[in-house]
Amino acid sequence: MDTNLITLPYALDSLDPVLSAETLAIHHGKHLSAYVTNLNAALPGSGFEGLSLEEIVAKAPAGKIFNNAGQILNHNLYFLQFTPTPVLEGPTGKLKEAIDKTFGSFEEFKKTFTAQGAALFGSGWVWLAEDAEGSLVIKQYSNAGNPVADGLKPILTFDVWEHAYYVDYRNRRPDYLGAIWNILDWNVISNRF
Ligand code: MN
Repeated sequence: MDTNLITLPYALDSLDPVLSAETLAIHHGKHLSAYVTNLNAALPGSGFEGLSLEEIVAKAPAGKIFNNAGQILNHNLYFLQFTPTPVLEGPTGKLKEAIDKTFGSFEEFKKTFTAQGAALFGSGWVWLAEDAEGSLVIKQYSNAGNPVADGLKPILTFDVWEHAYYVDYRNRRPDYLGAIWNILDWNVISNRF
């Protein structure tokens, strides 16, 4: 992925009531947009210009470039996994097989993943990721952290920064985490595995 602001592949009001148009307008148009502006201002002369987001996240030390590139990559993966017209209620193909093998069932995976998101202290992200052996792991990362920085492949992510849910759910992070399962595009997510 490059360092430009992505266009959302759905209308701002189309994920309502799970995520309102106001939430999406602020989250994509203000928060993500600011990370894009800040990264592109910091890149010239940094040695990271011209690299993909994934390369920057894998190579940059802790600091401004890692934080902004990480947040862009994280939000791109987050926003691009949603759809207003979900036709599938869960993963398909080899992702379904791997989830069943690792977690017992999709329902058990959902419970564990949601609980990890609810339990993450402060701002961060909960991830389903694939390790070098092709096994699935659930990971929690604070702030701008991303599995790519640990050599893992990101499959699914829920943003648990307060800005992701405060407009629609106030302090009720578990309600937000429970609701966004209903707007996931399992074609997109299954194809990442
Ligand atoms: Mn966010």
